[in-house]
Amino acid sequence: MNVYDSGRMADVLAPLGYVQADAPDDADMVILNTCHIREKAAEKVYSELGRLRRLKIAKEEGGGRMILAVAGCVAQAEGEEILSRAPYVDMVFGPQTYHRLGEMVARAGRAGDVVLDTDFPVEPKFDFLPAPVSSANSARPEGHAESAAFLTVQEGCDKFCTFCVVPYTRGAEYSRPAAAVLAEAGQLAAIGVREITLLGQNVNNYKGAAADGSSGGDWGLGRLIAEVAAIDGIERIRYLTSYPADMDEELIAAHRDVIALMPFLHLPVQSGSDVVLKAMNRRHNADDYRRLVDRLRAVRPDIGLSSDFIVGFPGETDADFAETMKLVEEVGFIQAYSFKYSPRPGTPAAVMENHVAEDVKGERLATLQGLLNAQQLAFNRSCVGQVMAVLLDRPGRLPGQLVGRSPYMQAVHMDGEGGAMGAIQELLIIDAHANSLTGNPVRANTGAPVRENKRASA
Ligand code: SAH
Repeated sequence: MNVYDSGRMADVLAPLGYVQADAPDDADMVILNTCHIREKAAEKVYSELGRLRRLKIAKEEGGGRMILAVAGCVAQAEGEEILSRAPYVDMVFGPQTYHRLGEMVARAGRAGDVVLDTDFPVEPKFDFLPAPVSSANSARPEGHAESAAFLTVQEGCDKFCTFCVVPYTRGAEYSRPAAAVLAEAGQLAAIGVREITLLGQNVNNYKGAAADGSSGGDWGLGRLIAEVAAIDGIERIRYLTSYPADMDEELIAAHRDVIALMPFLHLPVQSGSDVVLKAMNRRHNADDYRRLVDRLRAVRPDIGLSSDFIVGFPGETDADFAETMKLVEEVGFIQAYSFKYSPRPGTPAAVMENHVAEDVKGERLATLQGLLNAQQLAFNRSCVGQVMAVLLDRPGRLPGQLVGRSPYMQAVHMDGEGGAMGAIQELLIIDAHANSLTGNPVRANTGAPVRENKRASA
């Protein structure tokens, strides 16, 4: 989401004459786009600001000026505090204000004016943002193909998981009208994007105004995916991140019916213990999650699953943690993110009793990650000898080498010549590592089984 937001900020700033710099050293403006989800992410902001302050001073000594800005959810949550802890910051603005960036820059440009904007707009910011120009992903360094892009379709969250700051920093759930999403997807296709990841804090609860003017009510994510897939040039679709209780029939069916929808789903379960899930205010228990996985696999047997986990939530016992390990063993994930519970100011869990000791959290995390890493490696190894369709979008380490993404989001290093940047290339996988694969372009028919996003009949 932050990568997408950074891209849109670049789009707003482009007409003002700003272009992206490769390094902050001599920049006229530096914007830190921040994350507040865990304490560690938020802490990084202040250490990074300290470093940037030195660059700002150096620039001033040379007679120049650097506008230093903090954007994103730390800005939203800590607004005033940032300005008092780091008084050399010129602008602090939350995630719902990017359409006002032009005004803010003008104000900050007047010497001495400090800008603080953390208002949630009455009208969603999307209505005021320009079309994505060339910065499909502004975080993409030079030389990388703009063949994969993010597209925010939904923002905010009304779920109020007791551990989570998102409802407070991003605000209430909002879905963009389907017509706006399809228009932006079309613009991305026109600049050469072939893979789109539809984003939202609760993306699968998307309910956007229908694009066909029909009175059939809002579109859900399943319908939206089918329509994005119909756009010329869009060959791959993903969505991120999903709330298990919001997986509806139509979306599950899309995993069967929409060829462009990749067979990979990030579906955060958080815990395998029903007691912990209830205390987290998740609206699913462990068996609901197992049943959901069964339904997905019934329509798309080759689907690969990913999840988020929190260990050491307040009150989590050894027995609760054992339930999480059991769920992971049963479901089998091809990739996952796992975290120690981090108390966030203003959330209900932060003031719960029975917080788990740091060393216990650390041990549980190591145990869980041991299992998750083993599952990931086993999946990667199962790909050796298969042909995978890889979207090549980055240069590799050696000259001439390219790196891309498999349908399962694995990084695949192409060893050898033959692929073109931005192409979807069939690679025969010859080696597997913990975090990546190695493959060679398929020249002749190798007779190897093809694991890619085509049904046998297609
Ligand atoms: N909408 C997603 C959450 C996205 S936040 C969902 O409903 O699951 C990304 C991940 O950060 C979460 O899935 C969670 O695992 C982790 N996370 C969020 N708050 C956290 C906290 N207070 N401590 C530790 N991890 C947290």
